[in-house]
Amino acid sequence: MYEQDIQSNETIFGKILRGEIPCNKVYEDEHILAFHDISPAAKVHALVIPKKLISSVNEASEDDLTLLGHLQTKIPEIAKLAGCDKHGYRVITNVGPNAGQEVFHVHYHILGGEKLSGLNPML
Ligand code: 5GP
Repeated sequence: MYEQDIQSNETIFGKILRGEIPCNKVYEDEHILAFHDISPAAKVHALVIPKKLISSVNEASEDDLTLLGHLQTKIPEIAKLAGCDKHGYRVITNVGPNAGQEVFHVHYHILGGEKLSGLNPML
């Protein structure tokens, strides 16, 4: 369904989608892929990506409503599969350089498995 997008995805996540580099997979269906982050920032750190080529939240459009809605509603299942428990987790997506986005294929970080620090940088 997203074959053309997957072939033209020049990011590291494109390589993962094409199976050119391995990932520690958490979940996959025809629309999305989730895998453990290679450099975890918490005890549980998974990434969820759509198979459609979208650089960041800024590039998402009305056409992506169903896909991104699907991704979002799968997050609880993926978080549980990745190792998060009833105590919760955090979902983050970085957009652009101010947020430190390094990979320009939209992805949602799921962080958990432990008590996380606050988001306020002054804390
Ligand atoms: P960003 O900073 O763009 O929001 O997050 C990119 C994330 O991708 C980082 O947390 C980084 O550790 C992760 N990452 C980068 N390269 C790879 C890789 O080859 N495999 C996996 N599993 N994660 C990666």
